[in-house]
Amino acid sequence: MAIRFRNITISKSVIKNSLLIASVMLILYIVSIIFSINILKYYLNENIDTRIRHEIEHIAASVKYENNSFSIIRANEFEETDLIEVTDDSFLLQIYSNEGTLFLQSKNVAVFGNIEKIFPYFSEVYYFEDNKSHDVNLRTGYEKLLDEHGEPAGYIQLTTFKTAFNELIENILFINLFTFPLVVLFILFISFLISGKTFAPINKIITLARNISTANLSARLSFAADPEDELGRLKNTLNDLFERLEIQVRQITEFSDNASHQLMTPLTAINTEIEYLLKGIHDTEEYRESLKVLKEQTERMIQIIRTMLLIAKNSELCTEQKTIFNFSKLAVQLIDNAYKNYKIELSIDEDLYLRGSAEYFLLVLQNLVDNALKYSGNDCVTITAHQTGNIVNISIEDFGVGIDDNEKEKIFERFYRSDKAEKLGITGYGLGLNLVKAVVTTMNGTIQVRNNSPKGTVFTLTFPGVTIS
Ligand code: ADP
Repeated sequence: MAIRFRNITISKSVIKNSLLIASVMLILYIVSIIFSINILKYYLNENIDTRIRHEIEHIAASVKYENNSFSIIRANEFEETDLIEVTDDSFLLQIYSNEGTLFLQSKNVAVFGNIEKIFPYFSEVYYFEDNKSHDVNLRTGYEKLLDEHGEPAGYIQLTTFKTAFNELIENILFINLFTFPLVVLFILFISFLISGKTFAPINKIITLARNISTANLSARLSFAADPEDELGRLKNTLNDLFERLEIQVRQITEFSDNASHQLMTPLTAINTEIEYLLKGIHDTEEYRESLKVLKEQTERMIQIIRTMLLIAKNSELCTEQKTIFNFSKLAVQLIDNAYKNYKIELSIDEDLYLRGSAEYFLLVLQNLVDNALKYSGNDCVTITAHQTGNIVNISIEDFGVGIDDNEKEKIFERFYRSDKAEKLGITGYGLGLNLVKAVVTTMNGTIQVRNNSPKGTVFTLTFPGVTIS
């Protein structure tokens, strides 16, 4: 079941895709918030630590530890308000020995309340840590108290409040809590939009495929797409497929139209003849004549159907049977056996090999020689075959009625017969050259036709030569 929203169809795939995109975007959103809070925390701590370090430096310069006793050098340093009052910016100071004897405590510690003495191990000059006392978040810095020999005698511990810092983080979290559902909705909406747009061309393909039929093969996909990307390539491939199907369906329709038309002529003749025979009693000679007509027309139909079947079978057979055969021997045998009573001159190189089906190539030769004889009133026909480089050239020449220039392309179409042939009463079905061209094409060859001199026709075939080692 698919829901439609504007021109976007929200199908199961769209929902699945949207949820996937939304999840990825949400994860990225959450990771980016965690990351930015941590960065912020780092910079805020850095800021507090700089303040503590600066203050500790002053304090360290105002006290000394010599001869196992602690003394104050500058007393006014400890009279500053930030060591007396308890505000957000105040410092709580404690100086104590390694054993925990308290040497000095700022006045505000008594106001705030006791702070634990810590003895951290650190090798750097300063050490910082987050801690909590009386439910208040604090940040504390330590510096070692050194004696006259540079040996650690105790600790200077300086603590400040993280109030501003906490407020900021809390605010960020609070804002995020409220914006989060909105962000989720926004991300979902964007995901639906992206997925819907991504699947839109596929919906067009589905609609077109649903509507396509033999009566409507001219429809093509027309959405905008880069020809290099997947959708563009899919569109072009499908349009090419529709194009090929349209051509093939048109050819099949034309072929069946022509075939019906061609079979109609002998069938009508047979029907007329049978009606005539049924109309009364005829003498033996009349029956004989009628049977002759019936036989001729039946043979004509058999010939048409046989050639049509050959054309239909040719493409599959020829692609399967790509054997190598000796053209020179095949041609000589054919002429010697089937055309020994005709004037056919041969000028053929020995042992020319071709790749394809010998059986079908025999039909090519027969058709071309039959035509040459038929359209020249059985005049002289010349067959030449030579190899030049890697190309085998075969020509069949006659001195017959010739073919008009405007018909030289058309004669290869199924059922095409020239006006000249019809007018001269030369019988045929217009199928032979179509079969010839189909076979030659499957053998990777070409066929051309030109005028002979002083008259007649030359058919020239070219094929890639095959070398037998
Ligand atoms: P058909 O059975 O009519 O001969 P083809 O397919 O063999 O059918 O030939 C198609 C048409 O080409 C013929 O009707 C004829 O007009 C023309 N044609 C073919 N070969 C020759 C030729 N050697 N000389 C003149 N016309 C030819």
